Amino acid sequence: MTEEIAVIPGDGIGQEVVPVAVSVLDEVGDFAFTEYDAGDRVQEETGEPLPEETKRAAETSDATLFGAAGESAADVILPLRSAVGSFANVRPARAYPGIDALHPDADLVFVRENTEGVYAGIESDLTDEVRTLTRVITEPASRRIAEFGFDYAAEHDYDVTVAHKANVMARTDGLFVETAGQVADEHGADHETQLMDALATDLVMNPADYGVVICPNLAGDVLSDLAAGLVGGLGLLPSANIGPERALFEPVHGSAPDIAGKGIANPIATVLSAAMCCEFLERADEAERIRTAVMEVLADGPHTPDLGGEATTEEIESALLARL
Ligand code: ATP
Ligand code: MG
Repeated sequence: MTEEIAVIPGDGIGQEVVPVAVSVLDEVGDFAFTEYDAGDRVQEETGEPLPEETKRAAETSDATLFGAAGESAADVILPLRSAVGSFANVRPARAYPGIDALHPDADLVFVRENTEGVYAGIESDLTDEVRTLTRVITEPASRRIAEFGFDYAAEHDYDVTVAHKANVMARTDGLFVETAGQVADEHGADHETQLMDALATDLVMNPADYGVVICPNLAGDVLSDLAAGLVGGLGLLPSANIGPERALFEPVHGSAPDIAGKGIANPIATVLSAAMCCEFLERADEAERIRTAVMEVLADGPHTPDLGGEATTEEIESALLARL
């Protein structure tokens, strides 16, 4: 079967790194790619940063590969994530041999609940001086993210930690933790729970003690960015937005206007996102081949300037394709 992949390079370095991921995917597997527009440039032309056709492509393709959007990011990426029904944001943060990292032994995967918590969007002005925010935690969403996290951990042989603040937010995070505990029992899996503030400290000091970290929405947002700093920066970090049937894959970084157009963007984050895409499409061999090629290039070079090298995006592409 040939899976259909919607390709949305978007703005800035998205235009430079996404084509590299596409040629790597094309090298390892049999995929049908269709390219779609989104972001600032389309907005300038049409007034609309996310054309209907692009949204529909995300809703109907087997998977979507996205680059970045500039100023219009929130109006592009949030609707695209809902177009695939994303409930889990998965962000691996691991160090690689050959790359400077604060913690060369870190190998973490953040599994972040992506639909509720404080990002449910329920804010109001009580008076001119008082504003409130409602934090939503539901059993079904907590169960869905826990099931995804425990399955992912079992499949990839990681320990599980559930991050929370149930000592203060007893009703909401109490439910999150309790539900994760039930799912752990059903899976016959071990897990730990940890207060998210203490976890932030321990992730900086002892990241090797952790594997999969299942988080409510805001905690996952903050802790996964913290972990990015532990392993050597934005140019290497992939992510997946997983829905029940479809998913969207994108580098953690944005459009990087400061280096856009110079041909020196690091494509590895997007290539690793493409490897996550293969895994989602149950093409484990293809995913493994891509990751092996990436590890070899990171270990032996060439490297782009963000990693201390002098190579261009194109040279990384050639090195990857040569390894494959
Ligand atoms: P946006 O508003 O689209 O998020 P930004 O200015 O926040 O753009 P990011 O893409 O988040 O930029 O990047 C932050 C910094 O990291 C920039 O200095 C950028 O050049 C650098 N950077 C990000 N991604 C890469 C990459 N793939 N290769 C090299 N440098 C990168
Ligand atoms: Mg940014």
